[in-house]
Amino acid sequence: MKLLFDNASQLVTCAGAPRARRGEEARQMEVLTDAALVTKGERILAVGPRDALRAAHPDAQPIDCGGRVLMPGLVDSHTHGIFGKPRHEEQELRAAGVGYMEIAKRGGGIHSSVRDLRARSEDELLALALPRLRRLMAHGTTTLEVKSGYGLTLEDELKSLRVIRRLQRALPIRLVPTFLGAHEIPLEYRAAPRTRDEYIALLVDEMLPRVAAEGLAVFGLQLKLHADELETAGAAELAAEIGAVSADHLAAVSDLGIKALAASKTVATLLPGTMLFLGRPRQAPARALLDAGAAVALASDFNPGTSPTVNFPLVLTLAVSQLHLSVSEAILAATVNGAAAVGLAADTGQLSAGYSADLALFDIEDVRELPYWYGDHRCHATWVRGAPALLTS
Ligand code: FE
Repeated sequence: MKLLFDNASQLVTCAGAPRARRGEEARQMEVLTDAALVTKGERILAVGPRDALRAAHPDAQPIDCGGRVLMPGLVDSHTHGIFGKPRHEEQELRAAGVGYMEIAKRGGGIHSSVRDLRARSEDELLALALPRLRRLMAHGTTTLEVKSGYGLTLEDELKSLRVIRRLQRALPIRLVPTFLGAHEIPLEYRAAPRTRDEYIALLVDEMLPRVAAEGLAVFGLQLKLHADELETAGAAELAAEIGAVSADHLAAVSDLGIKALAASKTVATLLPGTMLFLGRPRQAPARALLDAGAAVALASDFNPGTSPTVNFPLVLTLAVSQLHLSVSEAILAATVNGAAAVGLAADTGQLSAGYSADLALFDIEDVRELPYWYGDHRCHATWVRGAPALLTS
């Protein structure tokens, strides 16, 4: 079946490659007016002048965009969406000046999420994740990367990944599963008689082969790195060297790391919501990364400890107001470049013929309003693979 998306105030295509080639002008998002878009089944068939498309596709069922902005569905390329209880106590402790180590000693931090997840069944985790991911979806996300990583045993990591697989069936959006068994060394491997090396052996010899054999993850097999998050560790350079699909966080990336990313295909994924929530003054050097020519993506880092936001457009606000991106750079980072960060640059993240019909309709007249009305909810509807995923009445 053909659909003709008509009457958008702006059609923001984001068409093009994740970044400009060397020597080319910086990429700008393409904004069309008096334009329409035709889908056929799961794919985008054509984007172009409204009158021409109306005439060429009289058989298409019209969808009235009502003067709103039509753009690619957002691609959130970094979340830790499978967890049990929220960790709101830590927010107040941090505000009172209690440090990371002390919070961990009082039973908080990542290990509390690990303990909690291990005690829950697959069904319980699914019941918790479903409404949380629906909230993410409600803000315009149509592709969502979701990591395991609060299990840290073979069974608990498999349990988390199986929850993601069940979510893939239950939700209309595209979920990209990542195995993050190396999220942290679990407490039982930090003291005698077990060692850190034994945990790494368990990861490599037992967990990875099982995850691969059961086809439970896309990443973990391909590489994504948490890189230079709080301390400079040469991780961006490592990500570039080993050809990782993305290097994420980067608040403490070095100049050499910036150069290495710019010269590589690795996408630099920035998570400004995390630094905001932690109350840290230091954001990733987004301008330096962009000016050096790196491909920059934005993501929510949705997780219980350091970024419990479901509002991806709010991350765009932070990108403009704190990372000094232009609106165009921020929108491209949340669409085309997000898709590149999950290896889907040829399939989603832009409104071009042949791409998956993954669309978001926002209740604004100008795309620049998306980061402007900060913290608001403006997503009116989304479509994934040509089918309605979300409709706000
Ligand atoms: Fe993360």
